[in-house]
Amino acid sequence: MAYHAGVDAEATLEPALQKRGHRLTRPRRLVWDALRSADRHLTAEQVAARVHEVDPDVNLASVYRSLALFAELDLARESHLGVDNASRWEPAHPDDHFHLVCRSCGEVQHHAGDLVEQLRVQLRTRQGFDADAIDLVVSGHCDRCAEAQP
Ligand SMILES: [Zn+2]
Ligand SMILES: [Zn+2]
Repeated sequence: MAYHAGVDAEATLEPALQKRGHRLTRPRRLVWDALRSADRHLTAEQVAARVHEVDPDVNLASVYRSLALFAELDLARESHLGVDNASRWEPAHPDDHFHLVCRSCGEVQHHAGDLVEQLRVQLRTRQGFDADAIDLVVSGHCDRCAEAQP
């Protein structure tokens, strides 16, 4: 799965909202556009700043409510990432694309592999535990920062 597939926001967002009885309002569309077009994981404040560049009338509360709704509908994912461990947002992606956080520059990368699936199987077989959400965050140093180390 591509991380940010270039799909028109309305094409995916509107049916996903309508199916669950929600309308596509302007704040929701702008918040979704901000998430989709971002090349990184954004804090709610950063999402709001991007929304405000397009429409200064959208208030912060609507941005927060839109993000909460998207999370509830599994359209967006909230993770605690970065050196500040703040809550950061992005379009939803599977658990097995987990997060690598650089402690020097704060960059967050995705790593896709079968590790999370292995963990899921191991939990089920060894402990009878049925995991439905695995939020794996690895901290360390990205290749650029590791190289720059003395
Ligand atoms: Zn780094
Ligand atoms: Zn992510």
